[in-house]
Amino acid sequence: MLAAALCAAAAAPAAEADAAAAPSPPSGLGPAFGTAFLDGYWRLHPDAAIAAGYYAVAAELEIPDAASRARLLQFLQAARMRLAAIPAAGLDAAGRTDRAVLDTQLASETWNLTKKRSWEWDPSLYNVAGGFYLLLNTPYAPLDDRLRTVLARLDKVPAYYAAAQANLRKPTREHTRLAIEQNAGALDVLGASLEQQIGHSGLSAEERGLFTQRLAAARAAISGYIDALKAREASGAAGARSFRLGRELYEQQFAFDIATGGTAEALYHRALAEKENLLAKMDVLADELWPKVFPDAPRPASRYQKIGTLIAKLSEQHVAPGEFFATVERDLPAFEKWIADHDLVELDATRPLQVRLTPVYERGISGASLDPPGPYDATATSYFNVDPIEERGPERAESFLREYNRWILPVLVMHEALPGHYVQLLHANKSPSLIKSLFGNGAMIEGWAVYSERMMMESGYGDDTAEQWLMYYKFNLRTVCNTILDYGVHVQGMSEAAARHLLVDEAFQTPEQAREKWHRVTVTSVQLTSYFAGYSAIYELRERLKRQYGPRFSLKRFHERFLAYGSAPVGVIEQMLGQDGL
Ligand code: ZN
Ligand code: ZN
Repeated sequence: MLAAALCAAAAAPAAEADAAAAPSPPSGLGPAFGTAFLDGYWRLHPDAAIAAGYYAVAAELEIPDAASRARLLQFLQAARMRLAAIPAAGLDAAGRTDRAVLDTQLASETWNLTKKRSWEWDPSLYNVAGGFYLLLNTPYAPLDDRLRTVLARLDKVPAYYAAAQANLRKPTREHTRLAIEQNAGALDVLGASLEQQIGHSGLSAEERGLFTQRLAAARAAISGYIDALKAREASGAAGARSFRLGRELYEQQFAFDIATGGTAEALYHRALAEKENLLAKMDVLADELWPKVFPDAPRPASRYQKIGTLIAKLSEQHVAPGEFFATVERDLPAFEKWIADHDLVELDATRPLQVRLTPVYERGISGASLDPPGPYDATATSYFNVDPIEERGPERAESFLREYNRWILPVLVMHEALPGHYVQLLHANKSPSLIKSLFGNGAMIEGWAVYSERMMMESGYGDDTAEQWLMYYKFNLRTVCNTILDYGVHVQGMSEAAARHLLVDEAFQTPEQAREKWHRVTVTSVQLTSYFAGYSAIYELRERLKRQYGPRFSLKRFHERFLAYGSAPVGVIEQMLGQDGL
């Protein structure tokens, strides 16, 4: 997972510049897509701009009305035409990958506005919390300046929520509930601690008076939005549309977001086959392990029961809550050494990876995540966030530690850091491009992290023990089942009971994990499938190149060449490798 979102969906990976050097070039596409293009883009997306660390438009709040959608549509169409007019012959690898990434982004936003139209059915799109939170908590400028920016931005909050209410023609029940909960968080961001900040600031009496007025109006607008959504919930008006995306929209979104070249349906069938394949391997390992772990108990006839019982027993071997952080920090150098000794991929000792406790506002989502520096940020440090597990209370801490037991905790480190997200970003940053760091492909990024786990296992990590492989397969099965669940729910109408059966009975997850996953699949689409989509595309590409190059194939060379194109879709990287060779 990358921090700040449920994995990479919203967390833009960073193009980190040298601490002392100039920032990344905007793109390899020449002046037509230089700084001026991004300035125009950010003016239409001020919230995303703040999240990317671009503060020039931070005082703006885009009112989500028809006029704003029309302006955006016009901008997107004009940009796509200019992009299409650039002759391919003049572009180097950076330019060609940038063009592919940017074209997908522009096409996808156009499709969102005109076909998916979530602006009329997803009330959770409307929430001012994120932008205000970042402005108040990111020290990019002195506090007084940031407060003045907040003051200017607050002025538009009532109009923002009025437009939001007018947009919602057929909200889904699930997104309505999510919007109610998340907008309560917006009231928090504009709550008592902001008043304290204003109290301690250097703002004039006049500015403070204006702040009081605008804060009251903004809070009333947020509360009004929440009340209106609750009224729709009570009357049954929420639920006019199903949260299920349906086949046509799902395939289209899959094509934009995943961009591996295949269809969602084909991937779904691949996931079903892979699930069987993993279970068959786990069955063999379970037979091998059973007499060792349960010398006196008879072996259950059902393979699900047999594997599940073993996993439950082995999961008791985990670190103590207070040791979780120290274990991760202590073990990182061993992962670096393993990667170097086994010649897997180049590392860079000059790019520090620092383990830290997860910042408070990001805690409680995944337990561990990677926080890369922002695209406009010149700091060179990547942070490996680890939650203070002991804060979760004894019961939740135990459940978390059983999940990340002594065999799966190393797999988590592989995914987040070495050779997963951290290493991918190291290599992506060697061909810096703002376009790819801002609009990087989530399936490639998550796919690489999942592929990293596999690559480490194949190199013999964990002494090739049956326990290590069984647990790795269980972790991998989660990724595979995310795809089955996502497609099943959005395209095939899978019920909540069927989803629970899949996750709990056939993939050995806890009832609580299954509940959380059900919630996630009702309010997102295609994101859950990006991990397996990217992973299987990378794996297949590698196997194909192995056959093609025969004895000349080098695993390390493949990894370096694959990563050198940055966070581009796997399908685009495959094309580039086809043209440029390994
Ligand atoms: Zn990840
Ligand atoms: Zn325990």
